[in-house]
Amino acid sequence: MKTIRLRDGKERSLQRRHPWIFESAIASGGADAGETVRVESHAGQFLAWAAYSPTSKIRARAWSFNPEQRIDAAFFVASVGHAVSARALFGIQSDGLRLVHGESDGLPGLIVDRYGDTLVAQFLSCGVERWKSVLIDALLAATGLTQLYERSDANSRELEGLPSVTGWLRGGEHDGAATATDITLREHGWNLSLSIADGHKTGFYLDQRDSRKRFAEWVKQIGAQQVLNCFCYTGGFTVAALAGGASEVTSIDSSGPALERAKANVALNGFAPERATWLDADVNASLRQFRDQGCQFDAIVLDPPKFAPTVAHADRAARAYKDINRLALGLLRQGGVLFTYSCSGGINADLFHKIVAGAGIDAGVDGYICERLGAAPDHPMTVNFPEGEYLKGLVVVKK
Ligand code: SAH
Repeated sequence: MKTIRLRDGKERSLQRRHPWIFESAIASGGADAGETVRVESHAGQFLAWAAYSPTSKIRARAWSFNPEQRIDAAFFVASVGHAVSARALFGIQSDGLRLVHGESDGLPGLIVDRYGDTLVAQFLSCGVERWKSVLIDALLAATGLTQLYERSDANSRELEGLPSVTGWLRGGEHDGAATATDITLREHGWNLSLSIADGHKTGFYLDQRDSRKRFAEWVKQIGAQQVLNCFCYTGGFTVAALAGGASEVTSIDSSGPALERAKANVALNGFAPERATWLDADVNASLRQFRDQGCQFDAIVLDPPKFAPTVAHADRAARAYKDINRLALGLLRQGGVLFTYSCSGGINADLFHKIVAGAGIDAGVDGYICERLGAAPDHPMTVNFPEGEYLKGLVVVKK
């Protein structure tokens, strides 16, 4: 067993069971990609078993803090089983759910979503890449499913020195025909179709499930008629607004294929196409155009992509968030509701609140912060891994 020794004083975060070991914390030692190493303090005290990543700044990720734990196939079978059975406790009512959420489930770098009878996995660290075949078998055994598609094409693979790979790992063919990569989910009684092959991430933003429901409820509650859905992707919030009774929903995204899918999703739920307007455009430009035309809305969603992947990007990202929030608050009617989000790991909930407050001041607008929202419970954060809180949302009613 290879050993990594930390620099003096660098053992504290592992002692608090935080799973990351940065390159800068290591005094000596190394291993092959994904190999299990024993991590010890400068004084030689055992701290963790971890998977080594030779090229990543996060040089190792802890599997276990128990010196007696063997990191073998049985360990992964147990970890996957635990993650899958925990989901039954979270009260999720959808056939789309996240079964494994990386660090929060003790499996750093592994993301697994279930869409109906199909699993979609992302292997994003050297550790889970090395244990891939064991993990595949464990996932199929824990769920009783037979179809597993790989979407290991996220940017983080590059940081780990791993190539981008996508395609069926199991169950890619049935009776000589290719298994469909288009899937329709049932979420809150709505039909939402997605592509596991071409969609973002594993195909869908499952983390906004509860927010989509809240949005439909708010649209109904305030009787919102004109709704604006910015960064609409495949139209989840658009369907929610229509279900909530909005007469007209304008949805903006800069991705043509996402908009095509969004249109199909409106049709799939039986809503008249005249109730939906689609803009293949940049949200920043569209918000300014609406302002110049004097447009007003009763409800607005701002769910932008990650502006700040890390704290280093926080300053620039903060300005970008403030700008779109300022514009959106200006377009809201009095009594209208704004659902605004940041999914940036580099912006914490406090800072996001401050950014939205600053946007209000600049817009000359005050609002009631009625709710704070986060990712759905199948994207858990844990006590030991606060970085798990990536998605933050505020529900603001304009005064
Ligand atoms: N709310 C969506 C998820 C949004 S993901 C849901 O519930 O499913 C963010 C979306 O923003 C992506 O679809 C991406 O194509 C789009 N996007 C990124 N930058 C954009 C820009 N400047 N203008 C418009 N859309 C943008």
